[in-house]
Amino acid sequence: MGRLVYLDNNATTQMAPEVLRAISEAEPVVYGNASSMHTFGREASKLVEGARRSVSKLIDCDADEITFTSGASESNNTVFLIAKAIIEKRGGGRIVTTTIEHPSIIETIKYLRGLGIRVDQAPVSEDGRIKLDEFKKLMGPDVVLVSVMTGNNETGAVQPIKEISEIAHKVGALVHTDSTQAIGKMRVSCREWNLDYLSLSAHKFYGPKGVGVLYCRRGVPYQPFVHGGEQEHGRRAGTYNSISIYGLGVAAELALENLEEESEKLWRMREALRTGIVERVPDVVINGPKKKEDCLPGTLNVSFRNVEGESILLMLDMQGVAVSTGSACATGSLEPSYVLMAGGLDVELAHGSIRFSFGRFNSMEDVNYVLEVLPPIIERLRAISTR
Ligand code: PMP
Repeated sequence: MGRLVYLDNNATTQMAPEVLRAISEAEPVVYGNASSMHTFGREASKLVEGARRSVSKLIDCDADEITFTSGASESNNTVFLIAKAIIEKRGGGRIVTTTIEHPSIIETIKYLRGLGIRVDQAPVSEDGRIKLDEFKKLMGPDVVLVSVMTGNNETGAVQPIKEISEIAHKVGALVHTDSTQAIGKMRVSCREWNLDYLSLSAHKFYGPKGVGVLYCRRGVPYQPFVHGGEQEHGRRAGTYNSISIYGLGVAAELALENLEEESEKLWRMREALRTGIVERVPDVVINGPKKKEDCLPGTLNVSFRNVEGESILLMLDMQGVAVSTGSACATGSLEPSYVLMAGGLDVELAHGSIRFSFGRFNSMEDVNYVLEVLPPIIERLRAISTR
C-alpha cells in the first residue's frame, strides 16, 4: 500500500514516542504492586504518584483530587451512579445533561431511566452548541447533577462549561464535564470552571489505552463504582495499572508543554482540509461551529449530499486514509449519528457524514493527499448513487 494517513485521532491516538519509551523502560524493572510496602511496591507507587501530580497540573486541580480509572467510560459511569445514590438517599431529584453526550453517558441515562430516575437532556443548536436558554429552563432546586461534555467527539463543538457551571451551581447542583476530547487541544481548568467532577482518557492524547481519570473536587459526594481493595483511598478498587498510569502522566506533561503550538497546528490542518473540500467538492455541508473558539481544533465533520458515509469511508480506506462516520463507539449501527440529528441535520445528510480528526503526527502532506483522493471518490459514488 502507498501512503497511510490516519485521520481518526478522535477515536484514538498513536502513543507518543516519549510515552512509549518511558513505559518500555519502566516495565521490566518497576513491576511491583503499587500498594505493596516493600521496595518494589514503593517504586511502582512513585510512578503512580508522579503521574497524579502531572495530570493535576494539566487540568488545574490538586493531586489528591485525581482518581485513576480504566478510562472515561468508567469515570462517566461513576459520576452518574454517584448522582443516582444521592437521588435515592434524598428520595428525589433529577439529572440534567445534553442530547449529544458520548454513549458512555447516553446509555447510562437509559439505564437510570429504567430504574425510574429522571434525566433531562438540554438540546443543541445547528452548530452543536448547547441552547443555553433551554438549559436554563431545566434548572431547579431538585437538580442533583449537571453533566455537559467539554468538546464533542463528532462535531468538535465546544460548550461554555464555565457559564454552565455557574448556572448549575446557583441551583445547588453538582457539575461534571466529560473532557475526554478536549484534553491536549484546549485549556481545561477544574479551578477556573469551578468543577465538581471531570472525566478523561489517556489514549485520546497520545497515552496508553485503558487508563483514565476521574477528578473529584475535595469533599464532593463520592461512591465507588468498582468495589474491592483500598486502592485510591477506597475510591476505585483494583491493582494499580501502574505502568499505564505512568504513561498517562508522561502524556499529560507533553500535552501541557505543547498545548498552544499543537492546537494551532491542528487548526491549520483542519482549515486547509475544510477550505480544500469546499473548493473542490460541490454540495457539502460543514457540521459544527464556525468560530475557531467554539470548536476543537482538529475535528472536521462534513456531510456529502447523495452519498453514504460508509461508502466514502471504505473507499478512502482503500486509498490508505482512515476516517470515521459518527463515532467509533456507535459504528456497527446503521442509524445515522444521533449527535448530528440532535443539531437538526436531516437524515439524508447525516447518513453522508464523515469525521476527519487530526492529531500530533499529521502533516499538511496528509491534507494534500486527502484533497487529491477524496474528490474523485465522491464523484464516482455520486455517479452510481440511485438516490
Ligand atoms: N467521552 C468521550 C467524549 C469520548 O470521545 C470517549 C471515547 N470515544 C469516551 C468518553 C470514552 O472513553 P474510553 O473509551 O476511553 O472509556
